[in-house]
Amino acid sequence: MRQNISENQADYKPMLAIIRRRRWYLWCLILIYMPLAVTTLQTTQSYKAFGVVFALWVILLCIAVTLTATAKCPKCGNNFHMRHSTLSYLRKCRHCGLHICADKI
Ligand SMILES: [Zn+2]
Repeated sequence: MRQNISENQADYKPMLAIIRRRRWYLWCLILIYMPLAVTTLQTTQSYKAFGVVFALWVILLCIAVTLTATAKCPKCGNNFHMRHSTLSYLRKCRHCGLHICADKI
């Protein structure tokens, strides 16, 4: 029985790694906004250039949010971070409660 549980957790590893990577992309994108905005304004002294950079950042943010929102839980097959129409970035599946680091335990 114990071996069966550990085999299941090993099966979860590839998809949980993808979910963790997508979360990192999103957080890095959020964190890079302020330095990017300040650097763009200081170097170009142009709101037009800042607008272009901001538009690109928003597009990348939408892509990252969509990728994290649609990541499937390897245990239950539902969206990991999304339940009905609500989205939250908790570290557990919103449907079955699988922890994002369940493969590392
Ligand atoms: Zn789940």
